Amino acid sequence: MSEARLLSLVEALRVLPGVGVKSAQRMAFHLLQHDRDGALRLAAALDGAVHDVRHCERCHTFTEHRLCDVCADPERDAGVLCIVETPADQSALERTGSYKGLYFVLMGRLSLATSFTAEGEATAHVIGEALKARGLTVSRLARGVPAGSELEYVDLSTIAHALADRR
Ligand code: ZN
Repeated sequence: MSEARLLSLVEALRVLPGVGVKSAQRMAFHLLQHDRDGALRLAAALDGAVHDVRHCERCHTFTEHRLCDVCADPERDAGVLCIVETPADQSALERTGSYKGLYFVLMGRLSLATSFTAEGEATAHVIGEALKARGLTVSRLARGVPAGSELEYVDLSTIAHALADRR
């Protein structure tokens, strides 16, 4: 009996962040032993997403269309732009329901609701100076978002307050 398929599944699962050999093996065994339907759904979802999801032409977040839902929404306030590091940060802000402007998603740091990490601070500083030089008003999320924290892991009410008190 060849185990090439099994080895290749374990190897493939290791592309996930934070997944080592042991975790990948556990996932592979679980899927094969207990949830083959789930495994097929996962395979189909991955295939579909990889082929159909691309970057919004305006804000760079993930979308299946030329423009994402936020950019395509005429009700959004085009006079306010929130710069975030990742689509996960954008989702965190969207879940608060308290921000009605547009976004620009950096898709990484140095690549301005940037996270309060050292790289986030540096990125925010560079962007802030560039925007101020163009005569734009620049504000950052108020503190209250814990220093060194990634926005996607901060609770919704904290983000909503930080948005309301930004400066
Ligand atoms: Zn967009």
